[in-house]
Amino acid sequence: MNNFIYARASSVQDAIARTAEDPTATVIAGGTNLVDRLKVFLEEPSQLIDISRLQMQQIERLPDGGLQIGALVTNTALADHADIRRDYPLLARAILRGASQQIRNMATVGGNIMQRTRCPYYYDTAFACNKRQPGVGCPAIDGVNRLHAILGASDQCVAVHPSDMCVALAALDAIVEVAGTQGQRQIPFVDFHRLPGDTPQRDTNLELGELITRIILPPVAYARSGVYLKLRDRASYAFALVSAAAALNVSGEEIRTARLALGGVAHKPWRATIAEQFLIGQPATSSVFEKAANLALQEAVPLSGNQYKVDLARRLIRRAFAVSANSGGMA
Ligand code: SF4
Repeated sequence: MNNFIYARASSVQDAIARTAEDPTATVIAGGTNLVDRLKVFLEEPSQLIDISRLQMQQIERLPDGGLQIGALVTNTALADHADIRRDYPLLARAILRGASQQIRNMATVGGNIMQRTRCPYYYDTAFACNKRQPGVGCPAIDGVNRLHAILGASDQCVAVHPSDMCVALAALDAIVEVAGTQGQRQIPFVDFHRLPGDTPQRDTNLELGELITRIILPPVAYARSGVYLKLRDRASYAFALVSAAAALNVSGEEIRTARLALGGVAHKPWRATIAEQFLIGQPATSSVFEKAANLALQEAVPLSGNQYKVDLARRLIRRAFAVSANSGGMA
Protein backbone atom coordinates (compact mmCIF):
# COMPACT_ATOMS: atom_id res chain seq x y z
CA MET A 1 0.00 0.00 0.00
CA ASN A 2 1.39 3.41 -0.95
CA ASN A 3 1.32 6.51 1.21
CA PHE A 4 -1.69 8.71 0.57
CA ILE A 5 -3.48 11.71 2.00
CA TYR A 6 -6.68 10.90 3.85
CA ALA A 7 -9.37 13.57 3.72
CA ARG A 8 -12.97 13.47 4.86
CA ALA A 9 -15.36 15.14 2.42
CA SER A 10 -17.59 17.74 4.05
CA SER A 11 -20.25 17.59 1.32
CA VAL A 12 -21.01 16.00 -2.04
CA GLN A 13 -19.70 19.14 -3.73
CA ASP A 14 -16.50 18.95 -1.70
CA ALA A 15 -15.95 15.32 -2.76
CA ILE A 16 -16.60 16.22 -6.39
CA ALA A 17 -14.21 19.18 -6.28
CA ARG A 18 -11.43 17.14 -4.69
CA THR A 19 -11.68 14.26 -7.17
CA ALA A 20 -12.19 16.52 -10.21
CA GLU A 21 -8.99 18.46 -9.54
CA ASP A 22 -6.89 15.35 -8.84
CA PRO A 23 -7.35 12.37 -11.20
CA THR A 24 -5.32 10.20 -8.83
CA ALA A 25 -7.68 10.79 -5.91
CA THR A 26 -10.16 8.03 -5.04
CA VAL A 27 -13.32 8.10 -2.97
CA ILE A 28 -13.85 5.54 -0.23
CA ALA A 29 -17.02 4.60 1.64
CA GLY A 30 -17.28 1.02 2.96
CA GLY A 31 -13.96 0.14 1.36
CA THR A 32 -14.76 -3.57 1.08
CA ASN A 33 -13.24 -3.91 -2.39
CA LEU A 34 -11.06 -0.81 -2.58
CA VAL A 35 -8.95 -1.74 0.45
CA ASP A 36 -8.28 -5.16 -1.09
CA ARG A 37 -7.01 -3.41 -4.21
CA LEU A 38 -4.93 -0.94 -2.19
CA LYS A 39 -3.22 -3.76 -0.32
CA VAL A 40 -1.93 -5.41 -3.51
CA PHE A 41 -0.97 -2.14 -5.25
CA LEU A 42 -3.75 -2.27 -7.84
CA GLU A 43 -4.67 1.24 -6.75
CA GLU A 44 -2.11 3.78 -5.63
CA PRO A 45 -4.13 6.94 -5.01
CA SER A 46 -2.59 10.22 -3.97
CA GLN A 47 -5.66 10.93 -1.82
CA LEU A 48 -8.44 8.88 -0.30
CA ILE A 49 -11.56 11.03 -0.03
CA ASP A 50 -13.79 9.55 2.65
CA ILE A 51 -17.48 10.09 1.79
CA SER A 52 -18.88 7.68 4.37
CA ARG A 53 -20.36 10.44 6.59
CA LEU A 54 -22.23 12.27 3.85
CA GLN A 55 -26.01 12.21 4.11
CA MET A 56 -26.83 9.62 1.48
CA GLN A 57 -28.12 6.80 3.73
CA GLN A 58 -31.86 7.16 3.12
CA ILE A 59 -34.35 4.94 1.29
CA GLU A 60 -37.40 6.99 0.37
CA ARG A 61 -40.65 6.55 -1.54
CA LEU A 62 -40.98 8.69 -4.66
CA PRO A 63 -44.23 10.39 -5.72
CA ASP A 64 -44.64 7.96 -8.65
CA GLY A 65 -44.48 4.96 -6.29
CA GLY A 66 -40.86 4.07 -7.00
CA LEU A 67 -38.03 4.23 -4.48
CA GLN A 68 -34.83 6.22 -4.23
CA ILE A 69 -31.84 4.69 -2.52
CA GLY A 70 -28.97 6.84 -1.25
CA ALA A 71 -25.56 5.77 -2.50
CA LEU A 72 -24.35 5.19 1.07
CA VAL A 73 -27.15 2.84 2.11
CA THR A 74 -25.45 -0.35 3.22
CA ASN A 75 -26.17 -3.62 1.46
CA THR A 76 -27.62 -4.96 4.73
CA ALA A 77 -29.95 -2.00 5.20
CA LEU A 78 -31.18 -2.28 1.63
CA ALA A 79 -31.81 -6.02 1.76
CA ASP A 80 -33.63 -5.68 5.11
CA HIS A 81 -35.84 -2.74 4.13
CA ALA A 82 -39.53 -3.68 4.24
CA ASP A 83 -40.40 -1.86 1.00
CA ILE A 84 -37.56 -3.54 -0.87
CA ARG A 85 -38.51 -6.99 0.39
CA ARG A 86 -42.16 -6.48 -0.55
CA ASP A 87 -41.90 -4.56 -3.83
CA TYR A 88 -38.49 -5.63 -5.22
CA PRO A 89 -37.84 -9.06 -3.66
CA LEU A 90 -35.31 -10.09 -6.29
CA LEU A 91 -33.12 -7.18 -5.23
CA ALA A 92 -33.18 -8.25 -1.58
CA ARG A 93 -32.48 -11.83 -2.57
CA ALA A 94 -29.58 -10.86 -4.85
CA ILE A 95 -27.91 -8.82 -2.11
CA LEU A 96 -28.29 -11.63 0.42
CA ARG A 97 -26.70 -14.03 -2.05
CA GLY A 98 -23.54 -11.89 -2.16
CA ALA A 99 -20.48 -11.73 0.11
CA SER A 100 -20.86 -12.34 3.87
CA GLN A 101 -22.98 -10.65 6.54
CA GLN A 102 -19.93 -8.74 7.79
CA ILE A 103 -19.10 -7.43 4.33
CA ARG A 104 -22.74 -6.53 3.60
CA ASN A 105 -22.80 -4.52 6.84
CA MET A 106 -19.95 -2.34 5.53
CA ALA A 107 -20.52 -2.34 1.78
CA THR A 108 -22.55 0.50 0.29
CA VAL A 109 -24.82 0.55 -2.74
CA GLY A 110 -22.53 2.97 -4.58
CA GLY A 111 -19.46 0.90 -3.75
CA ASN A 112 -21.17 -2.30 -4.83
CA ILE A 113 -21.81 -0.75 -8.23
CA MET A 114 -18.20 0.44 -8.48
CA GLN A 115 -16.52 -2.81 -7.43
CA ARG A 116 -14.11 -4.30 -9.93
CA THR A 117 -13.68 -7.76 -11.39
CA ARG A 118 -12.22 -10.54 -9.28
CA CYS A 119 -10.25 -11.96 -12.22
CA PRO A 120 -7.29 -13.70 -10.49
CA TYR A 121 -4.81 -12.39 -13.05
CA TYR A 122 -5.94 -8.83 -12.38
CA TYR A 123 -5.17 -9.22 -8.67
CA ASP A 124 -1.78 -10.88 -9.21
CA THR A 125 0.69 -8.26 -10.37
CA ALA A 126 3.14 -10.97 -11.45
CA PHE A 127 0.92 -11.37 -14.53
CA ALA A 128 0.24 -8.95 -17.34
CA CYS A 129 -3.30 -7.55 -17.45
CA ASN A 130 -4.85 -5.12 -19.92
CA LYS A 131 -7.22 -3.85 -17.25
CA ARG A 132 -4.29 -2.84 -15.04
CA GLN A 133 -2.02 -1.69 -17.84
CA PRO A 134 -3.61 -1.37 -21.30
CA GLY A 135 -1.72 -3.01 -24.14
CA VAL A 136 0.30 -5.56 -22.16
CA GLY A 137 -1.96 -8.55 -22.83
CA CYS A 138 -4.60 -10.75 -21.25
CA PRO A 139 -3.29 -14.06 -19.92
CA ALA A 140 -6.82 -15.27 -19.13
CA ILE A 141 -7.72 -15.70 -22.80
CA ASP A 142 -5.36 -18.66 -23.22
CA GLY A 143 -4.98 -19.40 -19.53
CA VAL A 144 -7.18 -20.56 -16.69
CA ASN A 145 -10.52 -19.05 -17.70
CA ARG A 146 -13.14 -21.23 -16.05
CA LEU A 147 -14.64 -18.18 -14.28
CA HIS A 148 -14.52 -15.77 -17.20
CA ALA A 149 -16.96 -14.30 -19.72
CA ILE A 150 -19.01 -16.07 -22.36
CA LEU A 151 -20.83 -12.95 -23.63
CA GLY A 152 -19.64 -9.51 -24.75
CA ALA A 153 -15.92 -10.12 -24.23
CA SER A 154 -13.14 -8.76 -26.44
CA ASP A 155 -9.63 -9.80 -27.41
CA GLN A 156 -8.46 -7.33 -24.75
CA CYS A 157 -10.32 -8.66 -21.70
CA VAL A 158 -12.62 -11.55 -20.78
CA ALA A 159 -13.30 -10.61 -17.16
CA VAL A 160 -16.76 -10.73 -15.56
CA HIS A 161 -18.49 -8.25 -13.30
CA PRO A 162 -18.70 -9.67 -9.78
CA SER A 163 -21.82 -8.04 -8.31
CA ASP A 164 -25.09 -9.84 -7.55
CA MET A 165 -26.95 -6.65 -6.65
CA CYS A 166 -26.14 -5.09 -10.01
CA VAL A 167 -27.75 -7.97 -11.90
CA ALA A 168 -31.00 -7.31 -10.06
CA LEU A 169 -30.76 -3.56 -10.69
CA ALA A 170 -30.24 -4.21 -14.41
CA ALA A 171 -33.40 -6.34 -14.53
CA LEU A 172 -35.39 -3.71 -12.62
CA ASP A 173 -34.65 -0.85 -15.05
CA ALA A 174 -32.94 1.07 -12.26
CA ILE A 175 -31.39 4.49 -12.87
CA VAL A 176 -28.09 5.71 -11.47
CA GLU A 177 -28.01 9.39 -10.55
CA VAL A 178 -24.59 10.98 -10.48
CA ALA A 179 -23.35 14.47 -9.60
CA GLY A 180 -20.29 16.19 -11.04
CA THR A 181 -18.80 19.54 -11.84
CA GLN A 182 -21.34 19.95 -14.67
CA GLY A 183 -24.33 19.17 -12.41
CA GLN A 184 -26.45 16.05 -12.13
CA ARG A 185 -27.29 13.42 -14.72
CA GLN A 186 -29.17 10.15 -14.74
CA ILE A 187 -27.79 7.01 -16.39
CA PRO A 188 -29.97 3.95 -17.12
CA PHE A 189 -28.43 1.13 -15.14
CA VAL A 190 -27.88 -1.01 -18.24
CA ASP A 191 -25.71 1.79 -19.68
CA PHE A 192 -23.68 2.44 -16.54
CA HIS A 193 -21.19 -0.42 -16.89
CA ARG A 194 -19.16 -0.99 -20.05
CA LEU A 195 -18.11 -3.96 -22.12
CA PRO A 196 -14.32 -4.24 -22.37
CA GLY A 197 -13.88 -3.49 -26.09
CA ASP A 198 -10.46 -1.93 -26.56
CA THR A 199 -10.64 0.02 -23.28
CA PRO A 200 -10.79 -2.73 -20.64
CA GLN A 201 -9.33 -0.36 -18.07
CA ARG A 202 -12.70 1.44 -17.94
CA ASP A 203 -15.46 -0.42 -16.12
CA THR A 204 -18.10 2.31 -16.14
CA ASN A 205 -19.25 5.45 -17.94
CA LEU A 206 -18.67 7.59 -14.86
CA GLU A 207 -16.60 10.65 -15.78
CA LEU A 208 -13.75 12.20 -13.82
CA GLY A 209 -15.09 13.90 -10.69
CA GLU A 210 -18.54 12.33 -10.87
CA LEU A 211 -20.00 10.69 -7.81
CA ILE A 212 -22.94 8.29 -7.54
CA THR A 213 -25.54 9.96 -5.31
CA ARG A 214 -28.62 7.73 -5.53
CA ILE A 215 -30.28 4.85 -7.31
CA ILE A 216 -33.85 5.16 -8.52
CA LEU A 217 -36.13 2.13 -8.75
CA PRO A 218 -39.14 2.78 -10.99
CA PRO A 219 -42.57 1.45 -9.92
CA VAL A 220 -42.66 -1.54 -12.26
CA ALA A 221 -45.52 -4.06 -12.14
CA TYR A 222 -43.33 -7.11 -12.74
CA ALA A 223 -40.98 -6.42 -9.82
CA ARG A 224 -42.94 -8.38 -7.21
CA SER A 225 -42.75 -11.56 -9.26
CA GLY A 226 -39.00 -11.26 -9.68
CA VAL A 227 -36.55 -13.95 -8.64
CA TYR A 228 -32.78 -14.11 -8.34
CA LEU A 229 -31.03 -17.45 -8.68
CA LYS A 230 -27.29 -17.93 -8.31
CA LEU A 231 -25.05 -20.91 -9.00
CA ARG A 232 -21.61 -20.95 -7.43
CA ASP A 233 -18.86 -23.32 -6.41
CA ARG A 234 -19.82 -23.35 -2.73
CA ALA A 235 -22.95 -22.45 -0.80
CA SER A 236 -21.82 -19.12 0.62
CA TYR A 237 -19.28 -16.36 0.18
CA ALA A 238 -18.56 -17.12 -3.45
CA PHE A 239 -19.04 -15.19 -6.66
CA ALA A 240 -21.52 -16.39 -9.25
CA LEU A 241 -20.53 -18.89 -11.88
CA VAL A 242 -23.85 -17.88 -13.42
CA SER A 243 -26.76 -15.97 -11.92
CA ALA A 244 -30.13 -14.87 -13.29
CA ALA A 245 -32.53 -12.11 -12.29
CA ALA A 246 -35.86 -12.80 -13.96
CA ALA A 247 -39.35 -11.37 -13.71
CA LEU A 248 -42.58 -11.99 -15.59
CA ASN A 249 -45.89 -10.22 -15.68
CA VAL A 250 -48.42 -12.81 -16.87
CA SER A 251 -52.00 -11.83 -17.58
CA GLY A 252 -54.46 -14.51 -18.58
CA GLU A 253 -52.56 -16.91 -20.82
CA GLU A 254 -50.02 -14.38 -22.02
CA ILE A 255 -46.74 -12.97 -20.83
CA ARG A 256 -47.14 -9.19 -20.89
CA THR A 257 -43.71 -8.17 -19.60
CA ALA A 258 -40.46 -10.08 -19.17
CA ARG A 259 -37.15 -9.09 -17.69
CA LEU A 260 -33.93 -11.09 -17.69
CA ALA A 261 -30.43 -10.13 -16.58
CA LEU A 262 -27.50 -12.49 -16.15
CA GLY A 263 -24.48 -12.34 -13.84
CA GLY A 264 -21.14 -14.13 -14.02
CA VAL A 265 -21.19 -14.19 -17.81
CA ALA A 266 -19.98 -10.77 -18.99
CA HIS A 267 -17.97 -7.65 -18.15
CA LYS A 268 -21.23 -6.01 -17.06
CA PRO A 269 -24.62 -7.23 -15.83
CA TRP A 270 -25.97 -8.76 -19.03
CA ARG A 271 -29.51 -7.76 -19.98
CA ALA A 272 -31.01 -10.31 -22.38
CA THR A 273 -33.36 -8.06 -24.33
CA ILE A 274 -33.84 -10.40 -27.32
CA ALA A 275 -35.15 -13.10 -25.00
CA GLU A 276 -37.38 -10.57 -23.24
CA GLN A 277 -38.94 -9.42 -26.51
CA PHE A 278 -39.52 -12.99 -27.66
CA LEU A 279 -41.50 -13.74 -24.49
CA ILE A 280 -44.07 -10.98 -24.99
CA GLY A 281 -47.41 -12.54 -25.95
CA GLN A 282 -46.19 -16.10 -25.37
CA PRO A 283 -47.69 -18.55 -22.87
CA ALA A 284 -45.67 -19.15 -19.72
CA THR A 285 -44.60 -22.71 -20.53
CA SER A 286 -41.37 -24.62 -20.15
CA SER A 287 -40.88 -24.90 -23.91
CA VAL A 288 -41.25 -21.14 -24.29
CA PHE A 289 -38.76 -20.57 -21.47
CA GLU A 290 -36.34 -22.94 -23.19
CA LYS A 291 -36.55 -20.96 -26.42
CA ALA A 292 -36.01 -17.74 -24.48
CA ALA A 293 -32.93 -19.25 -22.82
CA ASN A 294 -31.53 -20.30 -26.17
CA LEU A 295 -32.06 -16.79 -27.53
CA ALA A 296 -30.38 -15.26 -24.49
CA LEU A 297 -27.29 -17.36 -25.14
CA GLN A 298 -27.20 -17.43 -28.93
CA GLU A 299 -24.24 -15.02 -29.01
CA ALA A 300 -22.25 -16.86 -26.36
CA VAL A 301 -18.59 -17.46 -27.20
CA PRO A 302 -17.15 -19.68 -24.50
CA LEU A 303 -13.43 -19.89 -23.78
CA SER A 304 -11.39 -23.09 -23.45
CA GLY A 305 -12.38 -23.56 -19.80
CA ASN A 306 -15.92 -22.27 -19.49
CA GLN A 307 -18.08 -24.05 -22.06
CA TYR A 308 -20.00 -25.39 -19.06
CA LYS A 309 -21.37 -21.90 -18.37
CA VAL A 310 -23.50 -21.94 -21.51
CA ASP A 311 -25.47 -24.99 -20.42
CA LEU A 312 -25.54 -23.82 -16.80
CA ALA A 313 -26.97 -20.46 -17.83
CA ARG A 314 -29.53 -22.07 -20.12
CA ARG A 315 -30.83 -24.26 -17.30
CA LEU A 316 -30.80 -21.41 -14.81
CA ILE A 317 -32.82 -19.11 -17.08
CA ARG A 318 -35.48 -21.76 -17.59
CA ARG A 319 -35.65 -22.34 -13.86
CA ALA A 320 -35.81 -18.62 -13.02
CA PHE A 321 -38.69 -17.99 -15.40
CA ALA A 322 -40.57 -21.03 -14.15
CA VAL A 323 -40.22 -19.90 -10.54
CA SER A 324 -41.29 -16.38 -11.42
CA ALA A 325 -44.33 -17.63 -13.33
CA ASN A 326 -45.43 -20.10 -10.67
CA SER A 327 -44.79 -18.42 -7.38
CA GLY A 328 -43.19 -15.01 -7.83
CA GLY A 329 -41.30 -13.11 -5.19
CA MET A 330 -38.80 -14.79 -2.97
CA ALA A 331 -37.83 -18.01 -4.71
FE1 SF4 B 1 -6.88 -8.56 -16.99
FE2 SF4 B 1 -9.32 -8.73 -18.06
FE3 SF4 B 1 -7.45 -10.37 -18.86
FE4 SF4 B 1 -8.40 -10.60 -16.37
S1 SF4 B 1 -9.53 -10.96 -18.23
S2 SF4 B 1 -6.25 -10.69 -17.02
S3 SF4 B 1 -8.86 -8.45 -15.90
S4 SF4 B 1 -7.41 -8.14 -19.11
